[in-house]
Amino acid sequence: MALESSKAECKQAAGVFAPVIDRTRCEAKEDCVEACPYDVFEVRKLGDEDKRSLPIVARVKAWVHGNRQAFAVRADECHACGLCVIACPEHAIKLIRAASPA
Ligand code: SF4
Repeated sequence: MALESSKAECKQAAGVFAPVIDRTRCEAKEDCVEACPYDVFEVRKLGDEDKRSLPIVARVKAWVHGNRQAFAVRADECHACGLCVIACPEHAIKLIRAASPA
């Protein structure tokens, strides 16, 4: 019921906006996974390449949190409801315009 009501509040078509995760802030708390009505996120282990792309402070922080972070694996399904932005306790998620509306 809450899920359906959240979907009803999403005004944008899919793919107009996309979530961007700040790798220096994400602590893999999974609030975004639970909040998103469109299953945009998953939390997974960082691969070697992911770790190499992090600044040193973020790499240490990721290690402290089990080398896990959130990824927007289905960003093209985002309807810009903003629930993930509100849910993230680390303020790690922003929405950016991904494409102009048709
Ligand atoms: S704004 Fe966040 S919670 Fe809402 S659809 Fe997009 S990714 Fe999911």
